[in-house]
Amino acid sequence: MTKPTKAELAKYKSILEKQLSSLRGDVGSMRDEALRASEQDASVDHLADQGTDNYDQGFMLGLIENEEETIKHIEDALDRVNGKGEWEFGACPLCIEENDGGKKKAGPAGAKEVKKQKPAKVVEVWIPKARLEYLPWARFCVRHQEVEERNREIA
Ligand SMILES: [Zn+2]
Repeated sequence: MTKPTKAELAKYKSILEKQLSSLRGDVGSMRDEALRASEQDASVDHLADQGTDNYDQGFMLGLIENEEETIKHIEDALDRVNGKGEWEFGACPLCIEENDGGKKKAGPAGAKEVKKQKPAKVVEVWIPKARLEYLPWARFCVRHQEVEERNREIA
């Protein structure tokens, strides 16, 4: 898991923009497409040329569950891709939080002092690429997504 490259950011950006314009368009026809795709296992290729059929189907069925929220997530993700978000695109903010908290506690007595050129490697904050390919607007890593969803069920 590493920081997304510029090329990857450009790719996610174009996927996000396509998804956003699709979402803001006719969601009704998209629901039809998704249902038809699941019935016939037909190829749905108007959304993401680079994706697989499963990708498109999962994306569409998922977003129909909560269009408004998905639009917001995509907009936020686009902000992050453009460097205007609350955190860096592709990173999990809760992992960043843990990382910051960990730094203060770090340094047990007697530990060897090691010079590190890349301190960011200490705790992984980058969301796995496989997850971003599937859900470019993912806010959290899988672990923290589960925590979030549990919190929401309680609320
Ligand atoms: Zn996380």
